[in-house]
Amino acid sequence: MVGDNKVEISVTQQPDQQERGSQRTVDVAPAMAGHTVPDLTPTEAVFELKDVEVAYSGKPAVREITFDIFKERITALIGPSGCGKSTLIRCLNRMNDLIPGAVVSGTILYHGEDLYGAHVDPVQARKRIGMVFQKPNPFPKSIYDNIAFGPRVLGMKGDMDEIVERALRRGALWDEVKDRLKSNAFGMSGGQQQRLCIARCLAIEPDVILMDEPCSALDPISTGRIEDLMLELRENYSIVIVTHNMQQAARVSDMTAFFTVDVDSDDDDGGRIGRMVEYDVTEKIFTTPSDERTEAYVTGKVG
Ligand code: ADP
Repeated sequence: MVGDNKVEISVTQQPDQQERGSQRTVDVAPAMAGHTVPDLTPTEAVFELKDVEVAYSGKPAVREITFDIFKERITALIGPSGCGKSTLIRCLNRMNDLIPGAVVSGTILYHGEDLYGAHVDPVQARKRIGMVFQKPNPFPKSIYDNIAFGPRVLGMKGDMDEIVERALRRGALWDEVKDRLKSNAFGMSGGQQQRLCIARCLAIEPDVILMDEPCSALDPISTGRIEDLMLELRENYSIVIVTHNMQQAARVSDMTAFFTVDVDSDDDDGGRIGRMVEYDVTEKIFTTPSDERTEAYVTGKVG
């Protein structure tokens, strides 16, 4: 880590990777074997957060959040309940705008542009920055219509059958549902519903996918499928995931931000506030974190 929360990336090049130019393999825990990431530089940031604070009805929930989120990388936000992970991820596609009393301050640049600038239409921003939630939330419609909904509303050009097939293929669902596209999405398993929600998000061609605890309602097999899908999607999308499952963060993410929740020294009522403790390459966070609070959390000494 360096002082301004830009990240110094230390990657170990494997002998079999040395011919791949900019592709390197991070030397990490066994769960991450074969996990390849390109070089990271600050210019590849898709989001740049500077001194971000979110308050609900005047009470700050997270404060002093400064870090970059890199393009085509999976970034995990971890930390104990209440430290502000969901609050923060909602800042990245302006979902907090929809929560009465929520106020976001500081700066969030998206591809170098102020995401909260006066000229930015939050609805447009959410088309580029999609979101998948904890509980799968398909529409009460057919599988086909779930996927086609966004492209139809947006008037996207092209053959709708092809758009639907492409999204379902990207969502690793096509082979399972191609013969029942007209069936109601509620007839799918929970894991399939969550992949449908991811495919629905992909259908409108975002460049970022935000995932807030996407597997917490799923069984281990469905969770594994979503994790595999995330690793495939990383080729073309930037993904931010909130997870309480540290093994999941270690398995899928390239970068990890660890947050904690402290008593707010500015609050006479002893209110609590979330802060970022450490942000670094996932391997480092889980093996040699810089801060003892991170170590205590990732080793399970504190919840
Ligand atoms: P995490 O995702 O890490 O569990 P949250 O972002 O859900 O943390 O919550 C951080 C803090 O913000 C908590 O104190 C929580 O009570 C508060 N908070 C979250 N959402 C709201 C909301 N819609 N209205 C008021 N307070 C909220």
